[in-house]
Amino acid sequence: MIRPIVLYGSPILRQKAAPVDLADPALPQLIEDLWDTMYNAEGVGLAAPQIGVSKQAFVIDAKALQEPDEPPFRGVFLNPKILQAEPACVPHEEGCLSLPGLRERIYRPAAITVAYYDEKGQLQEKKLSGIVARIFQHEYDHLLGQLFIDYLSPLKKQLIRPKLREIQQGLIEAAYPTLYAV
Ligand SMILES: [Zn+2]
Repeated sequence: MIRPIVLYGSPILRQKAAPVDLADPALPQLIEDLWDTMYNAEGVGLAAPQIGVSKQAFVIDAKALQEPDEPPFRGVFLNPKILQAEPACVPHEEGCLSLPGLRERIYRPAAITVAYYDEKGQLQEKKLSGIVARIFQHEYDHLLGQLFIDYLSPLKKQLIRPKLREIQQGLIEAAYPTLYAV
């Protein structure tokens, strides 16, 4: 089911998400809703708090942003952890379905080692790099109540303030159903 995407300004986006109970009978529906909502909004990742569920779950389908020769990266990530991050950071332009119309250059570690449970409840450990590492870190931040704009300089934050206010007041038109003040 396509669910509305919670916009910036909603307190749920600033909350720390609770671990998922892997045996929760509602989990398959949550995962299905994340996929449906992400694809409808043409996103490459979506975290549960963005559909109003404060749980440690996100989905990624990086294909649209990957190189054609890269193996397509698609998956469900439950109770994820970043075990290790390379000290070197690289810049990349980021956007967020909860912040429509905003794109900014953000520095993040180029490669990370992660652990998570997949949708079958299997524990996985992987080393990620490139765009896949980027998307994972962005979605993981959502589970901590963090947003990409938190990494901007004070000056840059000042500059985007009017835009943030518009999003917060529901004055931005997005190409997908949205919800604010959740
Ligand atoms: Zn986001």
